[in-house]
Amino acid sequence: MAARSVLIVGAGPAGTRAAERLVAAGLRPVVVDEAAANGGQIYRRQPPSFRRAAEALYGFEAAKARAVHAGFEAIRDRIDYRPQTLVWHLWEGEAHLLCGEQSEQLRYDALILATGATDRIMPLPGWTLPGVFSLGGAQIALKAQACAIGARTVFFGSGPLLTLVAYQYAKAGAEVAAVLDTSPLANVLRAMPLLAARPGMLAKGLFYTAELRRRGVRIVRGITPIAIDGDDAVASVHFRNGSGNEEKIACDAVGLGYGLRSETQLADLARCDFAFDETARQFLPVTDADGRTSVPRVYLAGDGARILGADAAELAGRLAACAALGDLGIAVGEEEMAGLRRALAPMDRFRRGLEGAFPWPAHFAAALSDDAIVCRCECITAGELRAVARDKGAPELNRAKAFSRLGMGRCQGRMCGLAGAEVLADALGVPLAEVGRLRGQGPVKPLPVTTVLAE
Ligand SMILES: Cc1cc2nc3c(=O)[nH]c(=O)nc-3n(C[C@H](O)[C@H](O)[C@H](O)COP(=O)(O)OP(=O)(O)OC[C@H]3O[C@@H](n4cnc5c(N)ncnc54)[C@H](O)[C@@H]3O)c2cc1C
Repeated sequence: MAARSVLIVGAGPAGTRAAERLVAAGLRPVVVDEAAANGGQIYRRQPPSFRRAAEALYGFEAAKARAVHAGFEAIRDRIDYRPQTLVWHLWEGEAHLLCGEQSEQLRYDALILATGATDRIMPLPGWTLPGVFSLGGAQIALKAQACAIGARTVFFGSGPLLTLVAYQYAKAGAEVAAVLDTSPLANVLRAMPLLAARPGMLAKGLFYTAELRRRGVRIVRGITPIAIDGDDAVASVHFRNGSGNEEKIACDAVGLGYGLRSETQLADLARCDFAFDETARQFLPVTDADGRTSVPRVYLAGDGARILGADAAELAGRLAACAALGDLGIAVGEEEMAGLRRALAPMDRFRRGLEGAFPWPAHFAAALSDDAIVCRCECITAGELRAVARDKGAPELNRAKAFSRLGMGRCQGRMCGLAGAEVLADALGVPLAEVGRLRGQGPVKPLPVTTVLAE
């Protein structure tokens, strides 16, 4: 009989459905998540003492949130669930775990990485001022803590989270000063045939925009950001509107973001192959349709593989579990897997629509002033990065990191890596793919010194 210890990293929609499928096959997977409760990002749970109804927290997604939470509760005593536990390294078939100050090494026979995504940020002058949050961070404040990030907030950037989070703030009673979108309306209209692959999602997006307008929130499309101004904290957002005129909008907080980026560091540490994705303008792990990576018995599911959203994450989690079961010698019906693959098909079409409607503004990197900070952990500016390209001949991102310390801080390049690559490629005058990507390094997040010494 094949070995059967399966480790799932992530208890969001993808990890939950993967665990359910493994339990249905008679296995008892280990499910590790650094969050205090299951649910992942979209179905993030509020602290136990909070009493908001699912409808208030998750809006249109309340029924799905309930279903994912209930699915997890139903298997909770048949899995080895480790909340508040970080997987900080993977090495030769072992995961290095940290819970509080307790570290542990866990051997696995199959590994399903369902690690989700984080915000994708393009820096601009002033983005490190107190009062600036990523869009995801702004949403977490509202969902997890029932807090707004400021008294008067500008939401700014592009992508589906932009109008969604602005709408959630307005609905919760917070003042939304404006929504500033770098994508022109023409992009959205051009992408409609692809976006129509998921009419329900498209309708929700249109509803959020209409609701913001109905509440009197100004929405400006096709803007070019200039700076976030303020001395010790955010005071205003300075931008050029679609007609080319400069404007300033006073505010005390900014929610900023340009879509999401897959959280791929563990896939990297597991030594999975990556390939450059032209549409997403980033390196992503290579998988087959079922989530198998280039490394035997390592699987990816959900946004950690590519950004397809929560519904796709549920399907992909289950599919990756089926693939793992099959590879472990446990029979899985081909019909089940074919059905999951079919259901996933329109999701990718919709993703391409989103990439077209709300493109990552790569050209802003070239326009960044030399004194703009790119890596906020180490305070590395665009000018310093350009200097290592010009004066030290750094031909790719890891060499630039060694010379400049970009991506060496607390976030390990999660926030600055993609924008840093754009700045470097522009400075070198080479296509983005040529500068490569920041290699994942353990620990993926900071550890207590006691853990490092014990290793
Ligand atoms: C901040 C944020 C807000 C979002 N809000 C919305 C929204 O309102 N509506 C919407 O439609 N979509 C939203 N999305 C996208 C949506 O959350 C995803 O499409 C969906 O949650 C993907 O599910 P998943 O299971 O792949 O990943 P997730 O739900 O992100 O779950 C991944 C889990 O993995 C855990 N994890 C990651 N790395 C490690 C590690 N090293 N060790 C231990 N645990 C780890 C995380 O704690 C997390 O719980 C949001 C995404 C983000 C990042």
